[in-house]
Amino acid sequence: MSAIRPGNPGATRACPHCKETILESASVCPACRHHVKFAEGASVADAANITALRIEGSIRQPADVAAWEYSVVVSIKNDRGEEIGRKLIGVGAMAPNELRTFTLAVEIVPAKDKRALKGGTRH
Ligand SMILES: [Zn+2]
Repeated sequence: MSAIRPGNPGATRACPHCKETILESASVCPACRHHVKFAEGASVADAANITALRIEGSIRQPADVAAWEYSVVVSIKNDRGEEIGRKLIGVGAMAPNELRTFTLAVEIVPAKDKRALKGGTRH
């Protein structure tokens, strides 16, 4: 959980369904996709996030290899190239000629008020 005060950009909370740490402002949990709150006066369109980055790629294990094991790691770096987040998303194994597709998406949630972060030092 972050130390950012509730109501400010970047504030987080635990999803009541899957317990993943999500943005306090989220109306849909990006991890389990359950609705987590109904903002007063908000329409469905208000909840639409912007997908600022989306990368998808597939790996097919060659048929002549016994087994491939994989680890999926995502890291986040700041302006200075310092790693501010790193998470192991999942591990697994593939059989000969088996395919896995991996998708990374970064969703942007525009703040509903004019509060801004100062100095870009936050995560
Ligand atoms: Zn969830």
